[in-house]
Amino acid sequence: MASPESTPTLNFIEQIIEEHGRSGRFGGRVHTRFPPEPNGYLHIGHAKSICLNYGLAVKYAGKFNLRFDDTNPTKEEQEYVDSIREDVRWLGGDWEDRELYASDYFDQLYDWAEKLIKDGKAYVCDLTAEEVAKHRGDVKGGKESPFRNRSVEENLDLFRRMKAGEFPDGTRTLRAKIDMNSPNFNMRDPVMYRILHADHQHTGSKWCIYPMYDYAHGQSDSIEGITHSICTLEFENHRPLYDWYIENIGIHHPQQIEFARLNLTYTVLSKRRLIQLVTEKHVNGWDDPRMPTISGVRRRGYTPEAMRKFCERIGIAKFEGHHDIAWLEDALREDLNKRATRVMGVLRPLRVVIENYPEGQTDELEAVNNPEDPSAGSRKVPFSRVIYVEQDDFQETPAKDFFRLGIGREVRLRYAFFITCTGVVKDPTTGAITEVRCTYDPATRGGDSPDGRKVKGTIHWVSAQHAVDAEVRLYDHLFTKPDPDDVPEGQDYKVNLNPKSLEVVPGCKLEPSLAGAAVGSRYQFERLGYFCVDKDSTPGKLVFNRSVTLRDNWAKMQKKK
Ligand code: ATP
Ligand code: MG
Repeated sequence: MASPESTPTLNFIEQIIEEHGRSGRFGGRVHTRFPPEPNGYLHIGHAKSICLNYGLAVKYAGKFNLRFDDTNPTKEEQEYVDSIREDVRWLGGDWEDRELYASDYFDQLYDWAEKLIKDGKAYVCDLTAEEVAKHRGDVKGGKESPFRNRSVEENLDLFRRMKAGEFPDGTRTLRAKIDMNSPNFNMRDPVMYRILHADHQHTGSKWCIYPMYDYAHGQSDSIEGITHSICTLEFENHRPLYDWYIENIGIHHPQQIEFARLNLTYTVLSKRRLIQLVTEKHVNGWDDPRMPTISGVRRRGYTPEAMRKFCERIGIAKFEGHHDIAWLEDALREDLNKRATRVMGVLRPLRVVIENYPEGQTDELEAVNNPEDPSAGSRKVPFSRVIYVEQDDFQETPAKDFFRLGIGREVRLRYAFFITCTGVVKDPTTGAITEVRCTYDPATRGGDSPDGRKVKGTIHWVSAQHAVDAEVRLYDHLFTKPDPDDVPEGQDYKVNLNPKSLEVVPGCKLEPSLAGAAVGSRYQFERLGYFCVDKDSTPGKLVFNRSVTLRDNWAKMQKKK
């Protein structure tokens, strides 16, 4: 798949916008919006929509609104409003003072509904929801409601009484009078208002009738002077209805444009499913670092820059597909490679005693903070007689292709010395290796060989006496299959949940520069990946999330091209 970086051509939305610019349709204005329903936390798909809408506003020197499409009081909560605001801001979306609510337009929407009634274009219908659905019919056509030809006076009276709270939930609706035989089912007299005696998180108890999404959405765009109303493909066959309401009310007419929603391999991007994962406790809350929510990836250690880079790279399409989640990981790797401080940390410590290093002595060794960024400088890392290395970096009798530590082998300790393994100490009962014995060559200080002597392996280490304790959480994909919906007949996507998506590694040992590291700060642990301090950290124990491993697919892919 080509990335937009290599193809500076306009995408199809930009082409439409520029065409409008040439024709003067919106007087040269560009005004977009991100319109979430506050019924869940935002996910990476929403990030795509935010970056797209905000990006277009920036590119064309226009405006960007954050609008809560809060038409369904039973599913919406303030907690979601707050999280959405935080997430959009974190991504860099700037709505300035335009935090708007569809519910602020309820009075206006109501007045327009009366206008449509007076124009003979809307009627109060007494059919139940099931009957309405049945009347909608099939491909051959639908059946008109027996209430379709009520007089304007009767409709107005009933609608006002609906508003006044005279009727119980579900007994009546207001419907647009369009065409019960339209090939587009959305045009078969869609419901505009329903009766719902429920308090709304924004309007309180003011209303007991609520507009349907389709009736509220386009008019809200119109009120705000939106020029380009960008949405996902499932709204394509709602566009005639979007246009119908606006034309029949006779108000500013934004252009709805659809693009393919983002899908990622090994994950699900649907609020309904994410809610399910949270409430059924398959994950530890909305911001579980395994979650594809914006709050989840933020806690995992993702940067807004990486998210934006990813969204830009995948571009936009007219057809649905799945993007490889590796693209997301690579965007993060690339960003952190440039700015994360390198440190040393040992996840599964193996004790190493340097026999010829004096007890009580400490060496301060110079370590580079970031080879990609000389301005990041260097730091001192303490070395002493007892150090920890990774259990994985040792084999008692090393295999031929194993170039790390083993009896008789000499390796380089990163930034420190060459050491040679002389033997091991074992637990007399279990036979497990409890300690590795080594000698060091003082002439190799800094990791350079004085006599051109070569070593094949370089390993990381931490001084035992100076080490900081930590717990590290390693993550794998949340689902075991690229397409979580790939399930046996009769099963659902949750059978593909990965039971090994979280591995908690206690007892890790980190270099002392990490003591007191702030929640959210990011590091590269040399040879292990990028890590971020988790909010579960306490003064006595740091907790780190591995954000992503070091393997760099993107660079590899670029090279292959
Ligand atoms: P979901 O389908 O996950 O439940 P939604 O579409 O119901 O999400 P909204 O709050 O209505 O969520 O979405 C706000 C905006 O984000 C809409 O314009 C919607 O089209 C867009 N959006 C939602 N999911 C995606 C996605 N996967 N990729 C791109 N844009 C998306
Ligand atoms: Mg939606």
